Amino acid sequence: MTEVSVRVGMGHDRHRLVPDRPLRLGGLTIEFELGLSGHSDADVLLHALTDALLGALALGDIGEWFPNTDPRWANADSAIFLQHAMQEVRNRGWEIVNLDCTIHAERPKLSSYKTAIACRIAELLAIDAGQVNVKAKTGETVGTIGRMEAIDADAIVLLIKKAPSCGGLV
Ligand code: MG
Repeated sequence: MTEVSVRVGMGHDRHRLVPDRPLRLGGLTIEFELGLSGHSDADVLLHALTDALLGALALGDIGEWFPNTDPRWANADSAIFLQHAMQEVRNRGWEIVNLDCTIHAERPKLSSYKTAIACRIAELLAIDAGQVNVKAKTGETVGTIGRMEAIDADAIVLLIKKAPSCGGLV
């Protein structure tokens, strides 16, 4: 017999669009005239994914693990945060079933980047690209997203743990 447990986690993040910063999304640098402001590289999607993993493990949020007051994380590659959270997942015997995420950006148009971003996330997490889905939406020219003041990201992840049942012979 095998006992199966599952856990779900969600994440959300927002960073402001500003000049003179590279635009980092999902571990890639996207060609655009604006970038995201933040203490680290401000990769809004990797931050949302990190929070989803930490949330599934009931381990708080990215700000507790990687404070934006810590000089170690100044301009840091946010892949560090995501891979640290993934190591916590594996250390506890969990694995990812799948993850889904949405980037909210008026511009740039991200349709041509979605597959590359999904592949990069899969690579960072050492999972199959088929377990990762990336969606992109505009703000329909209204609100914070539509006015290009910020880019948002949402993420949700499902974890599974398979463990032998203790009910049988040891
Ligand atoms: Mg953030």
